[in-house]
Amino acid sequence: MTNSVKLQIYNSLSRKKEIFEPINPPFVGMYVCGPTVYGDPHLGHARSAITFDLVFRYLLELGYKVRYVRNITDVGHLENDSDSGEDKIAKKARIEQIEPMEVAQYYANRYHEFLDKLNVKKPSIEPHASGHIMEQIAIVEQIIKEGLAYEVNGSVYFDVPKYHQQKHYGKLSGRVIEDLLANTRDLEGQDEKRSPLDFALWKKAAPEHIMRWKSPWGEGFPGWHIECTAMSTKYLGETFDIHGGGMDLLFPHHECEIAQSQAASHKDPCKYWMHNNMITINGQKMGKSLNNFITLAEFFTGSHPALDKAYHPMTIRFFILQAHYRSTLDFSNEALQAAEKGLSRLFKAMHLAEKLIAKDKSTLDIASWQQRCETAIADDFNTPILIAELFDAVRMVNLLAEGKESLTSNDLSMLKEQLNRYIVRILGLTEDISDESAAVVEGLMQLILDIRKKAKENKDYATSDTIRESLSKLKIKIKDAKDSTSWEFDV
Ligand code: ZN
Repeated sequence: MTNSVKLQIYNSLSRKKEIFEPINPPFVGMYVCGPTVYGDPHLGHARSAITFDLVFRYLLELGYKVRYVRNITDVGHLENDSDSGEDKIAKKARIEQIEPMEVAQYYANRYHEFLDKLNVKKPSIEPHASGHIMEQIAIVEQIIKEGLAYEVNGSVYFDVPKYHQQKHYGKLSGRVIEDLLANTRDLEGQDEKRSPLDFALWKKAAPEHIMRWKSPWGEGFPGWHIECTAMSTKYLGETFDIHGGGMDLLFPHHECEIAQSQAASHKDPCKYWMHNNMITINGQKMGKSLNNFITLAEFFTGSHPALDKAYHPMTIRFFILQAHYRSTLDFSNEALQAAEKGLSRLFKAMHLAEKLIAKDKSTLDIASWQQRCETAIADDFNTPILIAELFDAVRMVNLLAEGKESLTSNDLSMLKEQLNRYIVRILGLTEDISDESAAVVEGLMQLILDIRKKAKENKDYATSDTIRESLSKLKIKIKDAKDSTSWEFDV
């Protein structure tokens, strides 16, 4: 049943949806450009990580053996994405008076911590740019050998116009080289380049530059684009299946990756290019200068003036999945609060479904509902449609609970299994505590409340107060009623 639906992916290169056919099934190689670790992760990081987590999860669900590589950029990403200016990480290190690698480690840790909270699966390999300097130098040497890069004063640049005579620079972004040239002014400090379109493969390190490595061209550091070519080639081969990243990376980063691969190996780096769209905040682009730059830490604690309250990571995840990954997504408190309510309805229906009792006949068509869910997710990961179908299931579960509809035991099992498959395994939405641990917590709480009750009966108020205070520190609130005591998480 599920097998009849074929996965289609929108390929940014062909600008159309294509049926997904891996190069070497059942193996799938996927490379996603990860963060430059110099600042606290924000909603944009979450959207990219969650988009490709969804792709990863669905491919695994289809039975593919996926090698998912997501890099960490810890060197070579210069300010304004140009070939001049300070390295973003080195700049932060200079301001904070610590080592660049301390900056990179600190923010990589923060990134991992928040992605765990968002229930993003860990990639199969997470290579660091600084750990692959030799591989980057080797590809730069290869491109020089092919005659498509040149050295000037210890820096190496990719020769874009010469490359464009042989291949097509701009085939991913649709940019036209003549227009690019007409719109580019020669910037100061870039006069080493033969053309303003040329980009750095290797940069000579100025005396004050801390992150530096020996190379055939003297001491320096790699350009930003070359790290992804080096690491994807090393772990996935010269051509792999899926390359992903945020839309802001499409040009120049990914265009340059194609040029580097074509120059070094005469092959495209991948078969399918996927790009997730950006996030806006109340209709405006997110930016530090607009004072609407909200980090994930601020979302989780509510500590930003633009936020009405703290939002649970699962609310953020659900909010992101409610939009198709290729659409822009506008943040507002109202939208997040609607997502919070919607998610709670989904979880409630899942719990209610567990309590339903099978009947002799089915009055609902679960198989065709399931088919509609699969068609949605297989249609270029159309999560808004899938989520609408899941809300249709919420409606069905409620009717079943009210006895207005009925399902046989086979259909009921299918409904429960598919709810779990789409909500938990594919969309990656989970509640804080699994049912099993929730039962244990409930049992322990009853035990503690019984001990407290006994203490009070024995007028041992010291013990009963200690219990209340200790629980309060664990954010557990005790509510005493006339004949009973209950508890809840104090959120
Ligand atoms: Zn990249």
